[in-house]
Amino acid sequence: TLTTARYVFDFAEGSMDQKDLLGGKGANLAEMTRLGLPVPPGFTIGTTACRAYLENGDLPPGVADEITEHLGRLEATMGRRLGDPADPLLLSVRSGAKFSMPGMMETILDIGLTDASVQGLAKHSGDDHFAWDSYRRLLQMYARTVLDVPDELLQAAVSTEYAQWGVGTPEELPAEAIERACTALKRAIADYAGRPFPQDPLEQLDLAVRAVLRSWSTERARLYRRQEHIADDLGTAVNVMAMVFGNRGSDSGTGVAFTRDPASGATGVYGDYLQNAQGEDVVAGVRNTVPLAQLAAIDPVSDVELRTAMSTLERHYRDLCDIEFTIERGRLWILQTRVGKRTAAAAFRIAVQLVDEGLITLDEALLRVNGAQLGQLMFPRFGEDHDVPVVAHGVAASPGAAVGIAAFDSAAARRFWDEGLQVILVRRETNPDDLPGMLASVGILTTRGGKTSHAAVVARGLGKTCVCGVDTLTVDPVARRAVTSDGVVIEEGDMLSLDGLAGVVYRGEVPVVASPVVEYFEGRLELSKSDDLVRAVDRLLRHADARRVLGVHANADTPADADRARRFGAGGIGLCRTEHMFLGERRKLVERLVLADGAAEQEAALEDLLQLQRADFVGIFRAMAGLPVTVRLIDPPLHEFLPDLTDLSVRVAVGRATDAPDPEAERLLTAVQRMHESNPMLGLRGVRLGIVIPGLFAMQTRAIAEAAAAVTAEGLEVYPEIMVPLVAGEAELRLVRNEIESVLADVAASTGCVVATRIGAMIEVPRAALGAERIARSADFFSFGTNDLTQLTWAFSRDDVEASIFPRYLDAGIFAVSPFESLDVEGVGRLVGIAVAEGRKGNPDLVIGVCGEHGGDPASIAFFAGAGLDYVSCSPYRIPIARLEAGRAAV
Ligand code: PEP
Ligand code: MG
Repeated sequence: TLTTARYVFDFAEGSMDQKDLLGGKGANLAEMTRLGLPVPPGFTIGTTACRAYLENGDLPPGVADEITEHLGRLEATMGRRLGDPADPLLLSVRSGAKFSMPGMMETILDIGLTDASVQGLAKHSGDDHFAWDSYRRLLQMYARTVLDVPDELLQAAVSTEYAQWGVGTPEELPAEAIERACTALKRAIADYAGRPFPQDPLEQLDLAVRAVLRSWSTERARLYRRQEHIADDLGTAVNVMAMVFGNRGSDSGTGVAFTRDPASGATGVYGDYLQNAQGEDVVAGVRNTVPLAQLAAIDPVSDVELRTAMSTLERHYRDLCDIEFTIERGRLWILQTRVGKRTAAAAFRIAVQLVDEGLITLDEALLRVNGAQLGQLMFPRFGEDHDVPVVAHGVAASPGAAVGIAAFDSAAARRFWDEGLQVILVRRETNPDDLPGMLASVGILTTRGGKTSHAAVVARGLGKTCVCGVDTLTVDPVARRAVTSDGVVIEEGDMLSLDGLAGVVYRGEVPVVASPVVEYFEGRLELSKSDDLVRAVDRLLRHADARRVLGVHANADTPADADRARRFGAGGIGLCRTEHMFLGERRKLVERLVLADGAAEQEAALEDLLQLQRADFVGIFRAMAGLPVTVRLIDPPLHEFLPDLTDLSVRVAVGRATDAPDPEAERLLTAVQRMHESNPMLGLRGVRLGIVIPGLFAMQTRAIAEAAAAVTAEGLEVYPEIMVPLVAGEAELRLVRNEIESVLADVAASTGCVVATRIGAMIEVPRAALGAERIARSADFFSFGTNDLTQLTWAFSRDDVEASIFPRYLDAGIFAVSPFESLDVEGVGRLVGIAVAEGRKGNPDLVIGVCGEHGGDPASIAFFAGAGLDYVSCSPYRIPIARLEAGRAAV
C-alpha cells in the first residue's frame, strides 16, 4: 500500500485497487505497468493533492519537490531531459478522477516544447512538420486550459494560414506555415494574458498541473457529477507521462480497442484506428477512423502485440476492457485502460460469457448486472428495420419508445388526446402549467434542460418517455412549429418518434417491438427459441432466486395483475389496494355509503359492495392459490369518492338561477360540504375511515373471509392476510382487530370453513414507526408504506411536489434523486430501522415487508435487505428487477 504522507507516486508503485488515491486512470496505469505492458513511464499526483488544492487554493508545500524528484527519475529512465533543446523529453498531463468523467476535465500534451526545443525535436526526429505541429498543439491546449483564451482568438491564428494555402487541416499545411501559426498563437497568448508563453519547461508543467486541478471545479464538471451522483469533494489525480507520438507518419497512429462489443456484448475485437494522428484528433473527428480489424493489414506486428495485450488485460481484469493505444513508428504503447462501460444488454451477455469462460463465478456475474439495467431491457424498443430519419439528439431523460403527433402546447395535446390520438408534447421547457398536456401525451420533447429538468422529473414520475435538451431544435410555440439546425421543419400534427433510452428524435413513425425479455416472462416466448440475451437474463435471475433471502411479492389489485405477478415470479401479493376496486362505475356505491341517510340506506349500500368485493377476491385468491395475499382495507382520501365540490356548487347555483332547482344536487352539496376537508391526505382515510364509518371494515372482512372459504371449497389453498392502513397507535389497531376477528369467527361458523387469516398493520405514519413495539403486540405482520411514510416524514405532498418543487431541489443538489423514488435512507430509513427493531421486540414472530414504491426501486432494495425485512412488494413489472436486486444483496 502507498503512504499518504506523499503526494506523488510512480506508475510502478501503485495498483488497480488504489483508485481513491490514484484515480481510475492512474490506478490502471500502475496495474498495467506491474503487468509488464508497454506503458510509457510516468507518475501520478494523487487526489490528496487535489483536495488540498481545492481547500487552500494552492498546492501543499512539498508537492513541487516531489514532482521534481519523480521527474528526475523519469528523465533517467528515458535518457532525456524535459525540454532539452537538443533532444527534448516531452510530457502529457492528464486528469483522472476515481470515477470516469469523460471529456469533462483537461489534458495538455507536448509539455516541454519551447522556441529552442522545438528546433531540437525537429532535428532529432528529422521531421519539421511533426515538430512544429506538436508545438502548435501545446500552444493551443495551453491557451485554452491554462489561460481560458476564447477559441475564436486561437482559430484566427491558424485559419489565416489555412486561407493562404487553401487547406482545412494542419496536416495539409507545410512546416513553415505551422511555424508562422505558432508565432501568431504566441502573440495571441501574450496579448490575452499580458505575459508571454513560458519558455521554462518546469513552469509549463507546474501551470498545466494546476489547470488540470482547476478543471475539477468547472461548471460542466460539477453538473456532470451531480447527474452521475459523484461527490464534489473527491478531487482528481493528475497523470504525468512521457509523450509518445502517433502523428509521426503512416507507421504511426492512435486508436481505441474494446475486448468485446460494448453495444451488444458480442465476443471479438472492436474499436477504431486512425493513422498518423494523436488521440485528440480522434475525439475531434477531424478525419475518419477505420475499424480496428484493419490494423492487421496496416501494421501486423503491432496488431498481434495489441491483441496479446487485450487478452492479458481481459483475463487480468476478468471483464470487458477498453484500451487507448498509440503506435509510434511501429512501436505499440498502451496509454490507458479501464473496465469498459457497456449497454444493459451487453452487461448481461458479457457476465454470462465470463462465467462460461471460467473467469468469474455466478455470484460475481450477479454483481456485474443490476436491476436498473434489467429495467431498461423490459421497455419496448424501436425496431432496427426502418428508414425513418433521425432529426435530432438530446438527453435520454425517461426511457421508452413513444410514437405520436407533435403538439406545441398543453391545449393542443389535450385536443388530440380527446380525439384518441397519441401525442408527443414539444416544448422549449415545461413548467407545472404543462401538466395536463404531459398527462395527455405518450412522450415529451424539450429543447432545454437536462436530466433534472421539470420535464425529465415529471416524465419519469408518470412513466412517460422523455427526451430533453434537444438544443439543435428551435421551437416556435406561436407559429406551432419547430425547426432543426439543418432546416427540417416539424409542424403541429407531424408524426414523431422518441427513443427515451438513447435520446433520439425521429421524424416519422418508427415501428415499435416488444421487449423479448418481457415476452419471455409473459410466457409468449420459449427459452429454447430466444436469443442469448434472454437466456442470460433467465440464468442470472435463477441464480438470484437461489441466493436471495428476501421474498418478492406483488402489488396487484386484479386477477389479471395477479396472474402477471405470478408469471414474473412473485411469491405472493404484498398489497391489494381495495379502494382501486371502487373506482369507475362502483364509485357511486361508495358515494351512496358515505352520504347515506340513515342505517337502512347505509346497509343497502354495504350489501351491494359486499357482493362485488367478494367476487373480486375470489378471482385474486384463485390466481394466487398457494401463496399469501395481503388485502389492505380501504384507504382513499374521502374526496376521491365524492362529487367535486365546485361542480356541485355550480350545478346548484345554475339550478336556482334558472328557476329549475336540482334537489338531488342540493342534497349532495350539503353532504359534501359537511365532509369537506382542507387536508384530505391528513384527514378521514385509512384506519380512521373504518372507525368513523361503521360496518365498512366489517363488510370488507366478510368479503375476504367468504371468498377465502369459497375458494378453499374448490380445493385450492388460500392464505389471506388483512392489512390495516394508516395506523398510528396500538389502540386503533386493537379496535379494528377485534372487529375483524369477530367477523372471521362469524364466517367460519356460517361456512364451516376456518381459514387462518393473519392481521397486520401498515407502518406509514412516523408515529407508528416510533411506537412499533406496542403496535406489534396486536399485529401478525408489518408492511411499510414508504410512500406515505416519506410524505409524512418530509411533509412533502406526494401528489404535488414532484412537479412544483423537485426540479428546483434536484438542480440545487438538495437531493440527488426524489425521495419518493429512492428511499431516503438517512431519514425515512432511520424510521424503518427503528420500527423493525421495536416491532420484533413487541412480537418476535412479526413478518415484515414493504409495499411502497420503494419496494421495487433497485437502489432501495439492498437497504431493505440490510434492514432485515422479510420481503419487498412492488408492481408486477418490477418483480424481476426486485428478484435480481434481492439476489445481489445476498452475495
Ligand atoms: C404507501 O403509502 O406506501 C402505500 C403503499 O400505500 P398507498 O400508496 O396506497 O398510500
Ligand atoms: Mg399509504
